Amino acid sequence: MHAPVMIDGSQGEGGGQILRSSLALSLVTGRPFVIDNIRAGRGKPGLMRQHLTAVLAAAEVGAAELEGAAIGSRRLSFTPTTIRSGSYRFGVGTAGSTTLVLQTLLPALVLADGPSEIVLEGGTHNTWAPPFHFLERAYLPLLNRMGPQVSVRLERYGFYPVGGGRLSVQIQPAKSLMGFHLVNRGETKAKSVCALVANLPAAIGEREVKEVLRRMSWPSDVGCVLDVGASGPGNVVFIEIESAHVTEVFTGFGRLGTKSEHVAGEAWREARTYLASDAVVGPYLSDQLLPLLGVSAWRGDSSANVGGRFRTGPLTRHSTTQIETIQAFLGVQIVASTVDNHGRMVDVDVRPG
Ligand code: ATP
Repeated sequence: MHAPVMIDGSQGEGGGQILRSSLALSLVTGRPFVIDNIRAGRGKPGLMRQHLTAVLAAAEVGAAELEGAAIGSRRLSFTPTTIRSGSYRFGVGTAGSTTLVLQTLLPALVLADGPSEIVLEGGTHNTWAPPFHFLERAYLPLLNRMGPQVSVRLERYGFYPVGGGRLSVQIQPAKSLMGFHLVNRGETKAKSVCALVANLPAAIGEREVKEVLRRMSWPSDVGCVLDVGASGPGNVVFIEIESAHVTEVFTGFGRLGTKSEHVAGEAWREARTYLASDAVVGPYLSDQLLPLLGVSAWRGDSSANVGGRFRTGPLTRHSTTQIETIQAFLGVQIVASTVDNHGRMVDVDVRPG
């Protein structure tokens, strides 16, 4: 029996990510953990519905024993036993993020001994979470490059606050995760901007797309507006940059009282910063790739193609906090070196010696 890894949920970013990454890494390693001060950095600390769903889902997948799994709880003890591949269905309630719950389960299920199928219900395009299109176009192609095959289908859109979206996920596991090197983007293959509008005037999406096209000086044929069905109103605009070695997606989330041009400007600023730099991986993808590369390095040995490196911008607090959590569970070596004013090269390796 392993001693539990002790995690302080107030460290660094102090939000839900420390908890979700701890769940993910505990499932992969079989190491139990105890986390205190859950989401101490947030206005309403403790487990909220979305976090509790992630805890209960991880417990089901890892046949784990739990203490403290309740709304508002600030301490949780999680002891996994065996990973069970198979069919799962999880409801995140109202509009909690389905993609964050999925990312909690993926590292363990892509290394499980059989295929899995997961249906997740809740929000599919939430602020401060990876939207479905980011998951599908940016995150999963990189995970799939590591060996497993994961495909997702958006069955119903779910926007805050009504939610009611549904994702279905098919997972074909691999024996281990191969590493990768993302040191340059390669040639740009396609750039596009698309706005989604649900139960709202199409003009909202049209204004967003027009604004991005204007600011980017892109031709109108790379823009699109889709009127999508959902239980409630919703709107996002996303800019996709497809390069030879990576695809990045930057999203603006429409909300009441915020002008369409402002929402478009938020996505545009992120995309512009990315395009003006030599970063291969943007700020969100960076914190989300770290656990995958960490697990790759942890499972492998230094002679194999494991771990890897990627070039990104200045590390966000989500990324630095992620590195601390990964090191607490995996003991791999993660080094971020400065390449220029704005560039960092992140190396994830098997710990030497
Ligand atoms: P909180 O404790 O604030 O409720 P949370 O559990 O909702 O937090 P965070 O801990 O802030 O979530 O983690 C959010 C995750 O969502 C991070 O991995 C971040 O990279 C990702 N994310 C946020 N916005 C985007 C975006 N626009 N595109 C892709 N990923 C995003």
